[in-house]
Amino acid sequence: MGKGSVINLHSHTTFSDGSFTPDRIVKKAAEDGLTHIAITDHFETSKVPSLKKCDLSNYISTIRDLGRKYEGTVRVLAGVEIDANPDRCRLDDLPFDLLNELDLVLFEYVNDKSNGGADLEDIDHILSDISTLKGLAHSDIETCFSEMGHMELRDILCSMKLFIELNTACLYRRDGLAFYELAEEIIQKFDGMVGLSIGTDIHRQLSEVSNVRSAHGFVERLGLTDSLIF
Ligand SMILES: [Zn+2]
Repeated sequence: MGKGSVINLHSHTTFSDGSFTPDRIVKKAAEDGLTHIAITDHFETSKVPSLKKCDLSNYISTIRDLGRKYEGTVRVLAGVEIDANPDRCRLDDLPFDLLNELDLVLFEYVNDKSNGGADLEDIDHILSDISTLKGLAHSDIETCFSEMGHMELRDILCSMKLFIELNTACLYRRDGLAFYELAEEIIQKFDGMVGLSIGTDIHRQLSEVSNVRSAHGFVERLGLTDSLIF
């Protein structure tokens, strides 16, 4: 996959802490020529306003309606973002039946000690109950997985069927570079075996919907276009 795709698989809307409705986000994605846009609102975290379990069916059907409305223009995907900090999100009480109706599930702060995120091995049982596409959002791979060798990390991500998101938001930079740029050597070692996603984490600035070119350029430069999950 990936050839000819222009994807943004990480966006927030008025269903959680974003400023725009899903329709406005999708309309902007269509105007800007994206081929795929995913709505991925926060799910039950005390960190920010977020989707509750009882909202989830309505949320999914709203996004599916948009998928029909924009059919042939931009593909609309439904996802959520789950906070891997167990003090903020009840990870053992996730509604797997509904989550598995989604197109993708993002996990943030996995192995991220500075944000209280659980380690991969501690949420292995949760991840294995999710049968849809799943991945690690805006991970500072170089820092969070520094104790693992590159090949070991690759093999673990492969066996857990986890993709890695390349996030372009200003928040996810260090020393003037995006986390994914800092992890170039590691991502190169994935050797096409780990799925890649691109997301901008748009909340309040509509222009962020299509801020994906730098990440697409990175993937192309590394010859990993086929690794894109859409
Ligand atoms: Zn997000």
